[in-house]
Amino acid sequence: MTHVLIIGGGIAGPVTAMALRRAGIEASVHEAYPRGADRAGAFLVLFANGLAALAAIGADAPVLDHSFPSGTVEYLGDTGRTLGVRPLAGAGPDGTAPRTLPRAVLHRVLREEAARRGIPLAYGRRLVDVVRGPGGKVVAVFADGSRAEGDLIIGADGLHSRTRRVLDPDAPRPRHTGQVTVCGRTRAPGHAAPPGTYRMMYGKHGFFGQVTGPDATTYWFANLPAPEVPRAALAGYTPDRWRRRVTEAFADDGTPAAALAAATGDDIVGINGYDIASVPVWHDDRTVLVGDAAHATAPNAAQGASMAIEDGVVLARCLRDLPDAGQAFAAYERLRRERVERIVALSAAMADRIVRTEGERRVRDAEVERRLAADARDAPDTDGSADWITGYRVDWEEKVC
Ligand SMILES: Cc1cc2nc3c(=O)[nH]c(=O)nc-3n(C[C@H](O)[C@H](O)[C@H](O)COP(=O)(O)OP(=O)(O)OC[C@H]3O[C@@H](n4cnc5c(N)ncnc54)[C@H](O)[C@@H]3O)c2cc1C
Repeated sequence: MTHVLIIGGGIAGPVTAMALRRAGIEASVHEAYPRGADRAGAFLVLFANGLAALAAIGADAPVLDHSFPSGTVEYLGDTGRTLGVRPLAGAGPDGTAPRTLPRAVLHRVLREEAARRGIPLAYGRRLVDVVRGPGGKVVAVFADGSRAEGDLIIGADGLHSRTRRVLDPDAPRPRHTGQVTVCGRTRAPGHAAPPGTYRMMYGKHGFFGQVTGPDATTYWFANLPAPEVPRAALAGYTPDRWRRRVTEAFADDGTPAAALAAATGDDIVGINGYDIASVPVWHDDRTVLVGDAAHATAPNAAQGASMAIEDGVVLARCLRDLPDAGQAFAAYERLRRERVERIVALSAAMADRIVRTEGERRVRDAEVERRLAADARDAPDTDGSADWITGYRVDWEEKVC
């Protein structure tokens, strides 16, 4: 029986393992970090397309149980004036509103669900190399000296994927998008967003978003134009330093952003924004990439996790239906590449949208108001811009040929 080694136990890893299990293919997951590694403050939003892909393999329930929905978005200009309110993309008639949850919780519930289905997960296994074994087997070599042998390797090891580099030593490096993203969460009273609403704020020096869950925790992020913070320096940035940075960036605005950041304790983390416009090599005859390893995206469109989930389910369908791995990997790439690279490009364009002068800001505010008014008149997303993203559905039953 085919055994697949999955490298990375973030989002794509456990989802791909569960989808393979559903397709009758055995897999084990090998994660670099020890169990329970967390990033304070960081949270994710899953849209209808990612939630539907989880539902396709019956794995949506634990995520729904640990997240909360918000079906509306409100935009504020830098003066604090409301530019408009509209239903969020994907919060359509089927009621699938986007769901928010801490990143660490998403990782945990996906891993727990995979373990409940009998999928082995090994922690502290950092892939360093892949070599060929006897009889066409592949062997994953880990930093601790251990090895694992299988028939295929799936690289679900994220933005700085080692599998990507082993597959193609010339693979492009992640590009810094010119932004850092700072995420925080707080239960400080008096700073909640309106119920069921993502409140987005166009500040003079950055973009800020907040949402409040039913337990009164407010989650927020700030996208700030900034040069890349070197990895070693990033480790030395304290929550206090990030808090001051965000508070100062929004201090000139009339929005609630600065006060919310100032009221946040140590649940703050800052991250460089990266993407890769296109990864030329996604697979060979034994190894294939999924999630950020295949298509790292800037966080602005909030689609990286949903795309990672879609990938895992589509790849499992291809391996289920096609006679050999080479054909399955080629079909998977054919089904996925155009869509995900389009979203990566869209997210990169969103990262470029910071405007600097007063005049530019007024034009931007007028454009946001015009778009929201058009949405309200006709239907949400009249330009169809989000339909192709959040309206995408993976059909588990459909045969791949
Ligand atoms: C600030 C920020 C906000 C974001 N917000 C959203 C959002 O709201 N919605 C959304 O959909 N997306 C969002 N994203 C993007 C999303 O986080 C990623 O696209 C998603 O996590 C990709 O999933 P993945 O499984 O491919 O990679 P990851 O989630 O990064 O998982 C990769 C795993 O591989 C492990 N690993 C790495 N190297 C090795 C190795 N050598 N050996 C073994 N294991 C290894 C890692 O420890 C990790 O557990 C955001 C990203 C950022 C940075």
